[in-house]
Amino acid sequence: MKYASYKHILRFFMIIIVIGGFPLCPASALPPAAGPRIILSQSEVAPGHTLLLEVDTSDAPRAYTRIELSYNEITIPVIEHPSGIEGKFIGLIPIPLSAKPAKNVVLLKFSDKNSIHTKAVAFTIVSTTFATEELRIDPAMIILSDDDRRRVEREWLEVKEIYTDKISARLWREPFQMPLAGGVTSAFGTKRVFNGTMVSIHSGVDLRSDIGTPVFSANQGVVKLAKELFYAGNCVVIDHGMNIFTVYAHLSVIQVAAGQSVCKGQQLGLSGATGRVNGPHLHWGARVGGIKVCPIQLSDVIRKLSEI
Ligand SMILES: [Zn+2]
Repeated sequence: MKYASYKHILRFFMIIIVIGGFPLCPASALPPAAGPRIILSQSEVAPGHTLLLEVDTSDAPRAYTRIELSYNEITIPVIEHPSGIEGKFIGLIPIPLSAKPAKNVVLLKFSDKNSIHTKAVAFTIVSTTFATEELRIDPAMIILSDDDRRRVEREWLEVKEIYTDKISARLWREPFQMPLAGGVTSAFGTKRVFNGTMVSIHSGVDLRSDIGTPVFSANQGVVKLAKELFYAGNCVVIDHGMNIFTVYAHLSVIQVAAGQSVCKGQQLGLSGATGRVNGPHLHWGARVGGIKVCPIQLSDVIRKLSEI
């Protein structure tokens, strides 16, 4: 694999050692009194968006034996900064669509050779309004037959398993890109009323595309699913490592297979109108830590990493 170079493997194990709790610091490497420097991508965040936290210990990189990040008692992976600078790390904090407006904190716990310290980084979840749209689709996609219901349940378990069995290391080196050039026709979080009755929340963004338009991987990763699903139609799911997955749904043709490594910009298939749709488009989704988030905002926040 391209990313499994000697340098990368060496760096990966250095991270394991630094954040894994092994005391590496020489006696002279004292940590700064203020502790690690912490930069949050934004102080206010909307539900469905992702916060990026940068941790900078580069002025005393060997002084800390353990760095942990948590939000709402959920541990957030702390990963080597894309710049590769020793002592710099990043963490991504996904805010669920269901999150209510409130003041919040991310907790950073770090240890030096003498003690364990905690820093709270404050941010605010702000209220946001989502559009509502009415869609007409095949009624058989709304009121399911017994066979279809069983299929949906089976696929739900299969997909859930994919997001559980994730790659911890960061597989990408560059910012994420759009999977095709079409504009957004339905935003993340839009409330949808199907056939005037069933209501659901849009868990991705829809991009305008005619049937047969090439669809490209947003970034480097490993294909975890490449098959037809009842609702998503022909669907590809990619694990990018660091708890990030992207989803490409309603394809007319799939051109990759599960287990395959893909590069940023590699063609995954052709857009289409398979599954629960009212016309051809690409549904592009993303998950961070299992939480569905807006893939465009996630790409924007990662792009802002200054050293990328
Ligand atoms: Zn969609």
